[in-house]
Amino acid sequence: MEKKRKLLILMPDGRIHKLKLGPINKSFREAPLTATSLAALVPQELNFDIKIVDESVDKVPLEEHFDLVAISCLTGTVVKAYHYADFFRSKGIPVVLGGVHVTLMPEEASLHADAIVTGFAETAWPALLNDFVDGKMLKHYCQTEQHFYQVPVPRRDLQRKSGYMVPNVVSATRGCKGTCDFCSVSAAHFGWSTRPIPEVIDEVKNLPKPRFVFNDVSMGEDMDYFKQLLTELIPLKKKWGGLVSTKVFHDPEVLPLLKKSGCLYLLLGFESISNISLQHISKGFNKVEEYKQIIDGMHHFGIVLMACFIFGFDEDDKTIFEKTVDFVNDYKVDIPRYAIFTPYPKTEAFNKLEREGRLLHYHWQHYDTQHVVFVPKLMTPEELDRGFIWSYKKTFTVASSLKRTIYTGKNFPITFGGNLAYNIYIHRLMNEKNRILPA
Ligand code: SF4
Repeated sequence: MEKKRKLLILMPDGRIHKLKLGPINKSFREAPLTATSLAALVPQELNFDIKIVDESVDKVPLEEHFDLVAISCLTGTVVKAYHYADFFRSKGIPVVLGGVHVTLMPEEASLHADAIVTGFAETAWPALLNDFVDGKMLKHYCQTEQHFYQVPVPRRDLQRKSGYMVPNVVSATRGCKGTCDFCSVSAAHFGWSTRPIPEVIDEVKNLPKPRFVFNDVSMGEDMDYFKQLLTELIPLKKKWGGLVSTKVFHDPEVLPLLKKSGCLYLLLGFESISNISLQHISKGFNKVEEYKQIIDGMHHFGIVLMACFIFGFDEDDKTIFEKTVDFVNDYKVDIPRYAIFTPYPKTEAFNKLEREGRLLHYHWQHYDTQHVVFVPKLMTPEELDRGFIWSYKKTFTVASSLKRTIYTGKNFPITFGGNLAYNIYIHRLMNEKNRILPA
């Protein structure tokens, strides 16, 4: 019998979202879908023995032999990806690199890989594997067209069972129609597409657990599709979380439908409490005056709100931190999340800041929304960093968390638990040395 070829699919460390408490090593986040989806796309007849490693919860098996290593990365993890790629190549193991950063920076990624995959993977990745087996792998595979149908079920059987807050992740839509000037999704021109609803429902129905997450970055771009999906979820009686834009709440039917479909929590990118900032980043569809109604509506229907706020816009001065924390507390945002404005490479924001000489450096490991990589307009980089950490500290004291979450009834374990997780995370931020890197 032909010997199996060993394939490693590696996702480098998402360090900032890891919860390490003694022997417990858990990711704050849901399980990533990329590695399990790539594993599912491996043609069976090629006889690969596949190992998935997500460095947030697993050790990278540096001593093991593989015939091929595939690494998927974001900008914040690409330095580690290059490090591992160089390591495996030095042992004579061919390496493939893919992911959003590779799509945006193909020339750079090519320096560390035997082959790169840009764009999507459904046809490019199996083609690469076939060529590899035939001994004629090319340097670059590029799939610009979406094939978001008849998607094979992700190989969840290969992912670590106990590593994630939510192990079951599903995708129904892909990409985003937004044009936010800092966002790599918009810079990569992925477009937006939907997966056939019966396929999604089938996958959800067969999940081993009653809870799951939609990892789509903008599920509600087509309200007919979205509402149909929610309607078909109702009989499954599952519980789910996901990410939507504020636009979906313009439809009065959506909140009752979300509730009936089993929606437990939603992440919304509020981004700023200033309409001017929102307009400047091309996210003017968020209207600050609508936030209260959205929050109250979600609370009325018992849906937990996770909301993201970004610091460092050109209009932000040192008062933005206190104003945002006050907003979060006054409006009872259940689980707030703060980020530092990050101009991902090849985005409009990146090009503008580079033209203005305001980028501090190109150390991609700090392009992760948790570090300052540019000179803000109305404060120093240090003031931005201090204000960011201060906001976390102020928001996630036990007293403040309790005040925001005590009213959430049966959702209290989720809301207070989420707050506690961020409370732990603050210590990591505070203990980190060299938070602002020199050029
Ligand atoms: S930030 Fe969100 S809404 Fe804006 S382009 Fe990116 S994914 Fe779309």
